[in-house]
Amino acid sequence: MHRTDRTTLAHFLIDATRRRTDFGSDAAALLLDVAQSCKTIARLVAMGALGDALGKAGVTNIQGEEQARLDVMSDSIFQRAAEFGGHVCAVASEEQDEPVPVPPHYPRGDYLLLYDPLDGSSNIDVNVSVGSIFSVLRMPRPGASATIADFLQPGVRQVAAGYAIYGPCTMLVLTIGEGTAGFTLDPALGDFVLTHPSFFVPGATKEFAVNASNSRFWEPPIRHYVEECLAGIEGPREKDFNMRWIASLVAEAHRILVRGGVFLYPRDNRQPRRAGRLRLMYEANPIAFILEQAGAAASTGTQRILDVEPTELHQRVPLIFGSREEVERIEALHGAASGASPDTPLFNARGLFRVG
Ligand code: MN
Ligand code: MN
Repeated sequence: MHRTDRTTLAHFLIDATRRRTDFGSDAAALLLDVAQSCKTIARLVAMGALGDALGKAGVTNIQGEEQARLDVMSDSIFQRAAEFGGHVCAVASEEQDEPVPVPPHYPRGDYLLLYDPLDGSSNIDVNVSVGSIFSVLRMPRPGASATIADFLQPGVRQVAAGYAIYGPCTMLVLTIGEGTAGFTLDPALGDFVLTHPSFFVPGATKEFAVNASNSRFWEPPIRHYVEECLAGIEGPREKDFNMRWIASLVAEAHRILVRGGVFLYPRDNRQPRRAGRLRLMYEANPIAFILEQAGAAASTGTQRILDVEPTELHQRVPLIFGSREEVERIEALHGAASGASPDTPLFNARGLFRVG
């Protein structure tokens, strides 16, 4: 039975502008432009090999990653929609070295838009869910030409953040700072329709997601945490855990938003030492905002993600997010590791972990 009383994304946003003095129609219009970009990308992705958009673009981005053709196409879809809309001053993308100012022949708005236009694109050929991630900041110097420094704001200052997930159905998950809502694309209507008014991530979970092939590079607190999970009901956690790994950030975040769990992409000791893999400004910050607004937590292991003061547009951070109890436990292990003597009971518990 088709319901006729559903709320569209446009109605949801208009309602917010009527209730809130700090959320204007320009912010709503910007988010509708972003949603339009996501619909266009959803269609491209859904065409698969029929769309003539698969394969490599033959170039690498600033991260040294080989770009897929869909990365390049998705990037220009986001950029063109944002430029034309008149609500942003400049955009910054995973696929562009520097921020891109709105060209002079378009009106300049008061916002900065950051995005990972296609997340998980290395999974596209195997038909695993991919997504787009975005973050909206206020331009600190309205009217001026945006510089990198204008973008380097901590995640707590985000006005809105969201992702689209291109899975069996296309969804848009959005926070404007009053909870996290999910919209499902009705392909016949061409509208995102509110289907998940308020996500809530339970505090306890039995699922963790980590790329265990990196375990030899992990720092002690992460090794300790995962060993505790693997020890299951006989271990200190006294419950059996399941492990998940999709290697697609949006897909991992979405699973955790829907049914709980914890995701870890920690710092590791590879040479050269890597401060995690995921990017702060257009991956960790928006995902952290979305998750926190759904009652979950996001941390580097030692610090709340949203409090990290950015120093570079493309900076990487360790990223741990999900059910509160797990994130807090991982942070406690980091505290114990940095502050404590090897006698700390945690580190000798049942001989699971030896310091040094
Ligand atoms: Mn990504
Ligand atoms: Mn990407």
